[in-house]
Amino acid sequence: MKQGIVYLVGAGPGDPGLITVKGRDCLQLADVVVYDYLSNPCLLEQAPADAERIYVGKRKGMHHYPQEKITALLLDLARAGKVVVRLKGGDPFVFGRGGEEAQALASAGIRFEIVPGVTSAVAAAAYAGIPMTHRDFTTTLGLVTGHEDPAKKMSSLNWEKLSTAVGTLVFYMGMANLETICEQLIAHGRSPKTPVAAIRWATTPKQETLTGTLATIVEQVRSADFKPPALIFVGEVVALRESLRWFDNRPLFGKRVLVTRTAAQSGSFSAQLEAAGAEAICCPVIEITPPPSYAELDAAIGRLPETDYLVLTSANAVDAFFARLKVDNKDVRALYGTIVAVVGPKTADALQRYGLQADLVAADFRAEGVVAELLQHGVADKRILYPHAELARDIITRELTAAGARVAAPVAYSSRLPANGETLRALLQNGEIDAVTFTASSTVDNFIALLGEDASKLLGTTPLFSIGPLTSATMVRHNLKIAAESTPSTLDALVDSLSNYFTKAH
Ligand code: SAH
Repeated sequence: MKQGIVYLVGAGPGDPGLITVKGRDCLQLADVVVYDYLSNPCLLEQAPADAERIYVGKRKGMHHYPQEKITALLLDLARAGKVVVRLKGGDPFVFGRGGEEAQALASAGIRFEIVPGVTSAVAAAAYAGIPMTHRDFTTTLGLVTGHEDPAKKMSSLNWEKLSTAVGTLVFYMGMANLETICEQLIAHGRSPKTPVAAIRWATTPKQETLTGTLATIVEQVRSADFKPPALIFVGEVVALRESLRWFDNRPLFGKRVLVTRTAAQSGSFSAQLEAAGAEAICCPVIEITPPPSYAELDAAIGRLPETDYLVLTSANAVDAFFARLKVDNKDVRALYGTIVAVVGPKTADALQRYGLQADLVAADFRAEGVVAELLQHGVADKRILYPHAELARDIITRELTAAGARVAAPVAYSSRLPANGETLRALLQNGEIDAVTFTASSTVDNFIALLGEDASKLLGTTPLFSIGPLTSATMVRHNLKIAAESTPSTLDALVDSLSNYFTKAH
C-alpha cells in the first residue's frame, strides 16, 4: 500500500495569493484536504478535482469538530495511505495547534512535513501599512494570544514583563478580552496614549481597521460593532499607517463588482478590478458555444491562400478562428500573405497570443472603425474573410460588399444563456453587488433575459457601467440607467470609470 503522508500547510491569512509556492504544490498532490474556517476556500481549487475536501472549521462557541477528532482523522487518513493536506489559516505553528497535530503524527510514526504560511499578524501589518518593526520606533516584537486556553486565567500572561519590554505587541484572538488587555497594559506601565489598531479580515476585500489608543480603542470597537477575526496591534509603529496605507484606500476597495462576461474572459477583467481594490464577483450571463455548422468556416479556411484580408472583431472570434484552423490541421502559416485587421487593442492582444501581429487596428474599437480602415486600403475586388458571431451586426459585410469586396462571412461561434439566473437573482436580492459591468451588448440582452421582468426591481439603485456606445444603446433600449460609459471602449477605461464614480463619494 502507498505510504500516507500529512502536509501541515499554512494557507496564509486570507488573500489566496499569499499561500507559498510549496503550499500550493502540496495542494496539487493531495488526495484529501482537511481545512479550517480561516483558510480561504478558493485555495481548494488548487487540489485535484477528485480530491476529498473535509471541512473541520472551528469558530468560537461552535466547536463542531473537536481537536482530538481532527487529529484522529489525520492519523486515519494517513494510515489509509492518503496524501493529506492539513490546510490551516496563517501559519500552522502560530496559534494554530499545528504543534499538537505534528506531535500526534510524530508519535504515531506517520510521515509529515510542515509548510509555513504567512501568519495573519505579518500579513495584516503589511496590508494595513504598519511596519511591525522600525528603527525609529521599536526593535522588539511580540506575538501574544489574547485568548488563552479557557482553563487558564488571562493573568497567566506576565503583564508586568510584557507591557514595557516589547515595543510592538500583536494580540491574536483578543477581541473578547480587549478591555482586559488594554487595562493590564496601562496598569503595567504602557502609556494610555500608545497607538492601537484593530484589524479584521486582513488581506481580504472585507478588511477593516480601527485606529485609536490604549485609552480609546475599547469604546471604538464597541460602537463600531467590530467583530472577530481580528488582530490588535499595540505600539508606536501603528501611527505610520497614516502615511503607509495602501490597500484599503484604493479607489474600488470594498466594492463588489459584478462581472457578466464569459467565464473564459472574466479572469483578466477581474484581475484589473482587483488591482483597483474591488472584489470581482463573476456571474457570466453568456456562454460561448460552437456554431450550428462549421461547413462555411471550413470552406473559407480552405480558401485562405487566395484571401486578402482577415477581419476579426473580438477576442472570441480570434479564439474560434484559430481553434478551427487547428482542427483543419493548419496553423498560422495558413495566413501567410493575408492582411489581418482587428477591431481594437484587446483583439490585437488576443491575436498576439497566437504569435501574430495585427496589420490594421481600428482606432474607434467598433466595426465602423475596421470598415473605415479597410476602405482606406481599397477593397474593390479583394477577398475578405470575416468569421463572426452568430448574431453579429452585418455592417462589415454590407459596407465592404458595397465597396466591391468579395466577403465570406461564416459564423465561427454562437452563444447561449447559461443556467445561472438563480445565482444572479440571489446576488442582487441579497444586496451583494455594489456595481454591475457590461462589456458587450449581448451581455446586456442576456442579463435582462436571465432576470426577466424583475430586472429593474432587483437592480434598484445599483450603478450600471457600460464599456461603450453600442453597449449603452442596448442598455437604453432595456430602460437601464447608465452610471457611466467608458471612453475609449476598453476594459482599462471601464475600470477607470468605476474608480472615478466611487471616488466621487457615491
Ligand atoms: N495560525 C493563524 C492564527 C490562528 S488563531 C495565523 O498564523 O494567523 C485565529 C486568530 O488569528 C483570529 O482570532 C485572529 O486574531 C487571527 N486572524 C487570522 N486570520 C486573520 C485575518 N485575516 N484578519 C485578522 N485576524 C486574523
